[in-house]
Amino acid sequence: MSPSADTTAVHAGREDLVALGVHVPPIDLSSTYPVPDLDQGGHAYDTLAGGGRPTDGETLVYQRLWNPNVDRFERGLAALEGCPEAVAFASGMAALTAVLLAAVQAGTPHVVGIRPLYGGTDHVLDSGSLGTTVTWCAPTEVADAITPQTGLVVLETPANPSLELVDIAAVVRQAGAVPVLVDNTFATPILQQPRRQGATLVLHSATKYLGGHGDLLGGVVAGPSDWAVRLRQVRALTGGLLAPLSAYELHRGLQTLPVRVRAQQETAGRVARWLTEQPEVDRVLYPGLDGQDPQGLLGTQLAGPGAMVSFTLRGGFDSAATLVGNVRLIVHAVSLGGVDSLIQHPASLTHRPVAAAARPHADLVRLSVGLEGAGDLVADLAQALRATHSGTDVTATQPAGSAARSSSASVSSAALLAVPHAG
Ligand SMILES: *Cc1c(COP(=O)(O)O)cnc(C)c1O
Repeated sequence: MSPSADTTAVHAGREDLVALGVHVPPIDLSSTYPVPDLDQGGHAYDTLAGGGRPTDGETLVYQRLWNPNVDRFERGLAALEGCPEAVAFASGMAALTAVLLAAVQAGTPHVVGIRPLYGGTDHVLDSGSLGTTVTWCAPTEVADAITPQTGLVVLETPANPSLELVDIAAVVRQAGAVPVLVDNTFATPILQQPRRQGATLVLHSATKYLGGHGDLLGGVVAGPSDWAVRLRQVRALTGGLLAPLSAYELHRGLQTLPVRVRAQQETAGRVARWLTEQPEVDRVLYPGLDGQDPQGLLGTQLAGPGAMVSFTLRGGFDSAATLVGNVRLIVHAVSLGGVDSLIQHPASLTHRPVAAAARPHADLVRLSVGLEGAGDLVADLAQALRATHSGTDVTATQPAGSAARSSSASVSSAALLAVPHAG
């Protein structure tokens, strides 16, 4: 019997500590490593630059090729995802970059993308700046979108910021031999292991739940060993490395991941239900609410609805802007998944680079629920919602049907320019 996720989270990547005579992993900050002789140094260099793993006692040559703390975090995350290996990077975007460059290198630069995706992911795919081309399609249209050049299908579930669920297994069936990459940042391996649904690659912005404390940037891709070799080759070339101290923190973060995710999810459920009863709120987007999982993926693909809640405001863009500007306990900031609750307006910030037609609507805000007491979060949201009644009542000054007020219109560029940036 394999150990539970709770046990794996605490122990994976630490199997050798007792033999080393230590209780926590030593932090190795070496930028370079002594080379015993040119034969051994050259052999180690070839192995590591080629994407291989070091053999016992062999020199590690240089930090861009290998770092023991990064390796420990990778082994811990791979175990939680149920994947043979994982390769970590400086950020989620560096991780995605490595996957895209590997696809280009293999002569399969075409990507099939299922929207919505994180704004940066959407942007890098839509712009083609890494040499890829993209076809955007619905989850049911993947088979038709695939060409002989297709190297990857990219999806996110729950999606950012709509929290829509995508049936991973159904996409995998349509993709055939083409690898499917699932961005699992929102669900974490505690709630969803895309490998079980047949996904080849699982990507995380480790910056979010895996770190969980808002004090580092990181990214990681879990998958089969042949992909790990290719990704380490790209990493050695591009240098998009996870820093050893961040790797140590991430590896420690994994230990509390199951507890944090469960507690944050419990609070998020309470906040989401409360939001459905507020007159200022139009729709609450949360997979755990009635009618929001038409495909029945909750309890099968996804073990729980998670701790991200999005909602739209009847007062449109202006109410959304007032709300995020008036929270006191909750912090108005991008990012998510940490112990403290954060709120932001995706159309203005995280999804700003997305093409207008695919951008989140102007009336939508996204809340990342942390570890605070549910009552305190609700009280803060209540006073910020009250603030939307006073002061900025734009319904009197804006023409009827303007983009900012319509719940179905995407945000106009004029409205975007009017948004003050966080800070
Ligand atoms: C933040 C985020 C990313 C990008 O990760 P960085 O660590 O910021 O580079 C990718 N996907 C999702 C779902 C994210 O939330």
